[in-house]
Amino acid sequence: MNIHEYQAKKLFADYSIPVPEGSVAITPKEAIEIAAIYEYKVVVKAQIHAGGRGKAGGVKLFSDSKEIESYSSTLLGTKLVTAQTGKTGVPVNKVLVEKIYGIQHELYLAIIIDAVTKSIICVASEFGGINIEEVAENNPDKIYTVVADPILGLQPYKLRLLAKKLNITTDLIRPFSILATNLYKLFVENDCSMVEVNPLVITNDGQLLALDAKVNIDDDALFRHPGLLGLRDIGQEDERETRADKSNINYVKLDGNVGCLVNGAGLAMATMDVISEAGSQPANFLDIGGGADEDKVAEAMKIICSDTDVDKIFVNLFGGILRCDVAARGIVQASRETKVPPIIVRMLGTNAEEGSQILLDSSLDVKLIDDLHDAREEFLKS
Ligand code: GDP
Ligand code: MN
Repeated sequence: MNIHEYQAKKLFADYSIPVPEGSVAITPKEAIEIAAIYEYKVVVKAQIHAGGRGKAGGVKLFSDSKEIESYSSTLLGTKLVTAQTGKTGVPVNKVLVEKIYGIQHELYLAIIIDAVTKSIICVASEFGGINIEEVAENNPDKIYTVVADPILGLQPYKLRLLAKKLNITTDLIRPFSILATNLYKLFVENDCSMVEVNPLVITNDGQLLALDAKVNIDDDALFRHPGLLGLRDIGQEDERETRADKSNINYVKLDGNVGCLVNGAGLAMATMDVISEAGSQPANFLDIGGGADEDKVAEAMKIICSDTDVDKIFVNLFGGILRCDVAARGIVQASRETKVPPIIVRMLGTNAEEGSQILLDSSLDVKLIDDLHDAREEFLKS
């Protein structure tokens, strides 16, 4: 679960991580009232669950009340498209109005879970700010990582070494080390999957300040954090993902055109690999889960079909607890309620033949295949 920048900054403040002064506004009038506290020298920031706002015009500095009003009114109630959102963008219903701080330097600091070392790691760069993706692409040696010890955490000596690599001046090494330690504590105590501060700035008067804040919390741990659950903003989430969540279907929207209906997370990932390796792109990750019935399969199918990017669907099922005939009936049921594009079907396991026959007898455009090599042929981009 993602939370907004203004919520993340409150969390930062709880962990003694310095953040700019400011408040969130839902109307232009409120934005002006907040700005007045800082003599209208403020930065106004669109609150959306995505980065790249700076480059997309969602973050702007002001010194005039009229301009703040007109900018807030154009932003509020519209959708903002950034490099990190889909084509349709995400709604801006709140803006964060903050005092402007003079910036000496922009650093990058994040804590994430690293699959390679199977550890929590701290990632940092001297070259933070809106071009961090380009730094990662062109100068990966300018991005440093520190692996946290599962018991000892981010040991201070490692953070001091990191600070040196980041060319942080001697007087700020200790504050930096404390800030990173607090960020790590926040990460662990709230079961985060990512915490990112970009930029972490050194202000003109030599203070460290978290100018931006991104916090992502592991959905599977939310039951342990009822307080955090209240920060959820469903309006920022993909409609299909929210709908899938209601039926306990694991669905993640992706950029491609091949819809995927699969049972089992591992098989779903392997299915996406086959599609990608053949040169096509999956439109979604979907794991229907073990105990699915006809209605749940139908709902999964309808969710996939509601995505206008989808022009074909790969159904890859291994019938176990979910019998193939039940799945097939679910697919046919969906086709009565929605238009279904051509589907390529691989069914194995319990009642696979019966399931295949149900699909062949239906009015659907179905192509049956036996193994994944054949699937590869289907998704080769001509
Ligand atoms: P993002 O593009 O969505 O990551 O939005 P950020 O919150 O990181 O803002 C983008 C950029 O706006 C930052 O890298 C800063 O350069 C600039 N910015 C944001 N807040 C301030 C501020 O208080 N003072 C100054 N001088 N620049 C700011
Ligand atoms: Mn940022």
